[in-house]
Amino acid sequence: MMKSQAQYRRFRSLLIANRGEIAVRVIRTASAMGLRTVAVYSEADRDAMHVALADEAVLLGPARARDSYLNIARVIEAARQSGAEAVHPGYGFLSENAEFAQACADAGLVFVGPTAEMMIAMGSKSGSKMLMEKAGVPLVPGYHGEAQDEATLTNAADKIGFPVLVKASAGGGGRGMRVVRSAGELAGAITSAKREAKAAFGDDRMLIEKFVDNPRHIEVQVIGDSHGNLLSLFERECTLQRRHQKVIEEAPSPTLDGAGREAVCTAARKAAAAVNYVGAGTIEFVSNGKDVFFIEMNTRLQVEHPVTELITGIDLVEWQLRVAFGEKLPLTQDQIKLNGHAIEARVYAENPHKNFMPSVGRIKTWRMPEASSGLRIDAGYREGDAVSPHYDAMLAKMIAWAPNRDAAIERLNRGLEESDVRGIVTNIPFLSALVTHPAVRANTIDTGFIERELKNLTPAPMAPGDLELCAAATAILVQESRAVFAEPNSPWRTAGWMPVGRRQRAFVFRHAQGTGQEICLHYGNGPAKWSIGEREFAFTFSTTADGGFDLTLDGMKSHIFAVIEGHELYLRTKNGRFDLHWVDPFGGETEEQVGEDKIVAPLPGTVVALLAEEGAMLEKGAPILTLEVMKMEQTLRAPFAGVLKVIKCKVGDIVGEGVELAEIEPLAS
Ligand code: ADP
Ligand code: ADP
Ligand code: MG
Repeated sequence: MMKSQAQYRRFRSLLIANRGEIAVRVIRTASAMGLRTVAVYSEADRDAMHVALADEAVLLGPARARDSYLNIARVIEAARQSGAEAVHPGYGFLSENAEFAQACADAGLVFVGPTAEMMIAMGSKSGSKMLMEKAGVPLVPGYHGEAQDEATLTNAADKIGFPVLVKASAGGGGRGMRVVRSAGELAGAITSAKREAKAAFGDDRMLIEKFVDNPRHIEVQVIGDSHGNLLSLFERECTLQRRHQKVIEEAPSPTLDGAGREAVCTAARKAAAAVNYVGAGTIEFVSNGKDVFFIEMNTRLQVEHPVTELITGIDLVEWQLRVAFGEKLPLTQDQIKLNGHAIEARVYAENPHKNFMPSVGRIKTWRMPEASSGLRIDAGYREGDAVSPHYDAMLAKMIAWAPNRDAAIERLNRGLEESDVRGIVTNIPFLSALVTHPAVRANTIDTGFIERELKNLTPAPMAPGDLELCAAATAILVQESRAVFAEPNSPWRTAGWMPVGRRQRAFVFRHAQGTGQEICLHYGNGPAKWSIGEREFAFTFSTTADGGFDLTLDGMKSHIFAVIEGHELYLRTKNGRFDLHWVDPFGGETEEQVGEDKIVAPLPGTVVALLAEEGAMLEKGAPILTLEVMKMEQTLRAPFAGVLKVIKCKVGDIVGEGVELAEIEPLAS
């Protein structure tokens, strides 16, 4: 039986049982409060940012989360080894694990969060819904009973009426959840949701809810102390989601008016009061734009907590720590004021053009604008860091504040546009397209918006114009001149040195879908010029302190940021982002076509389902098999119509990146 703990008391050292952005975030506030900070890390994270920032760090074990960040005994042991007196769990990992909260209490550690009892009461979606029903908090109609047999679930879905949402009771992060539109799809959806839930949470119990029409996600930040005080810190709206996982979050909700705000905050306080909640937590609701219905409580800090911090001026981690010290909350409900508007974007290592496949590798360039009064960046990675396939793909969050919503969106977009992360693929351009979409500005969205608008949010790469070709060729000159300047005896270092006679040099660039385009440099006597076909541009350039350069073409100056990796060029100009290939004049390059008839694992993963049989005729896009990669299921599909010649894996296989899984033979056309 779980014992209660609640031994909140003053402590001087804190172990942060997490990694990445949230570990960094907690360490910052804890250090500012004068606490000694202890990081924990896996073998994959020896050089990670959170390890560098903490006062001390303890190695937990191998890269796999199960062997490190999720290993309760090992984390408790690390606290003992380091002499830490308290543990902050962050979010994800063990943050909502009651067994962990209890293990901390049993080891005499202060757990920065609610007690194990409160977590158990609110931790399961089914259990919490039963509690809320009793407390009179409005619920989504649905089934959240104990019985899990197929007949019970099928009957429940029929009674609720389609469409329904099948959800893992232990779920989080949008995993183990399926929208089901008709009775025929139910059994399959339950099977796959159960499989995902079992793998992610070790618990495959399901609940069924009515799928709310035009759903919006609205949630309320609450925090309680151990003296019986409980506050709500306004609401956040997180309607921009993909696969039920938030992408953009803002506060306050642009959908609610004053009365709606009052109503949802009151319902949230009622919900938290039902378990005499202590610590920071979030009460989540789904809304049809008019009414709100409770869906779950998250008994921890949430990813999107910074938007609440920016509109209230409260440091939530500081308040969490004060509550854990046993202090009273420093403000009363009427002292909490809403100021302006804040909006956050989650920066992920993923490729929006490839079904948001996670991207792993080393970060070669990490450039983000300076934080300012209106822009905050919570990052867990730096230039040179590795993004490992073992953990969540979130790299950072960019959060903008302004007096009103339009200005906050503008500021966020500008921050995104000024960011360049190279070496891995990120969703930054997608986030820009999203926040500037007219429907987002007008707030005429629902949680299905991203899926519906995906094509417009992931436009094909633009072809380079004259500015980009000139910028690309100039970037090569900048790189060459840097190399030359680095040499002490270079003639470029002597003022007045100029090559003799008029000369020229040609560059050819190719972009993703295009053919080669030639640009010519004319230099020597007289001013330097670029020419593209018949068009000529006199130009000068000068490098700037931010690592980019200013390029002046016929008197028009514009700022360019460029990264050159061998023959691959990345450019950001006023027109957007461009990836170009510098065709090597000596390389004898051909327009190579990569053979796509082999289906390979894009990342390390586990084969969880085979969806087609050998010999089957497949349409283009037909599913072949499902891999679990970085906690998400990814279905690999036929790249063209053909015959599935051979399947080279079976369910349960753990496969490395690039391993061949199947072969498909194109239809002779
Ligand atoms: P939810 O989606 O459950 O409502 P949040 O929006 O707060 O909650 O997101 C929590 C999710 O963040 C986790 O489910 C997990 O996928 C992800 N996550 C957990 N730990 C980390 C981490 N250290 N860095 C980045 N992302 C994380
Ligand atoms: P998780 O623990 O994964 O965060 P939630 O229950 O919070 O699970 O649901 C995730 C998202 O799915 C919500 O933010 C909401 O947008 C959507 N959702 C949840 N329940 C419903 C519902 N009954 N109808 C429509 N959308 C829902
Ligand atoms: Mg949720």
